[in-house]
Amino acid sequence: MNTAKFRAESTYPPVVVQPVDIALSRRKGLLTIEWEDGMVSELPLAYLRGWCPCAACQGHGTVVQFHPAPADIGLELMAEAGSYALHLRFTDGHDSGIYTWGWLRRIAPDSPPAGLKSGRFEGGRFEPL
Ligand SMILES: [Zn+2]
Repeated sequence: MNTAKFRAESTYPPVVVQPVDIALSRRKGLLTIEWEDGMVSELPLAYLRGWCPCAACQGHGTVVQFHPAPADIGLELMAEAGSYALHLRFTDGHDSGIYTWGWLRRIAPDSPPAGLKSGRFEGGRFEPL
């Protein structure tokens, strides 16, 4: 029996690291987040769109999955949602994703496990497809 079911935002990482600076470069199509522990994450916008955490993109199950997006996708809107997340509206009109700090930290390309995350997370572990 699997008692360690993955919950997208509440269990990993156990303590949510907070961002101290967030910078959007529209020209580079890149969101750069500096975290309070000193890590810096560079997140391409197409990569963020691919990891949209909304229910339509990720369903309600225990598996989350990357959905490839056009490389030239942009952002129409970026706003803080409370003090815990970013609300992003992409140029394809999709805006239902609330990107919590925990989620952003988790999908960051330089968060463990290292490397491009083109697979899926399951049971708190990354599984390449
Ligand atoms: Zn979505």
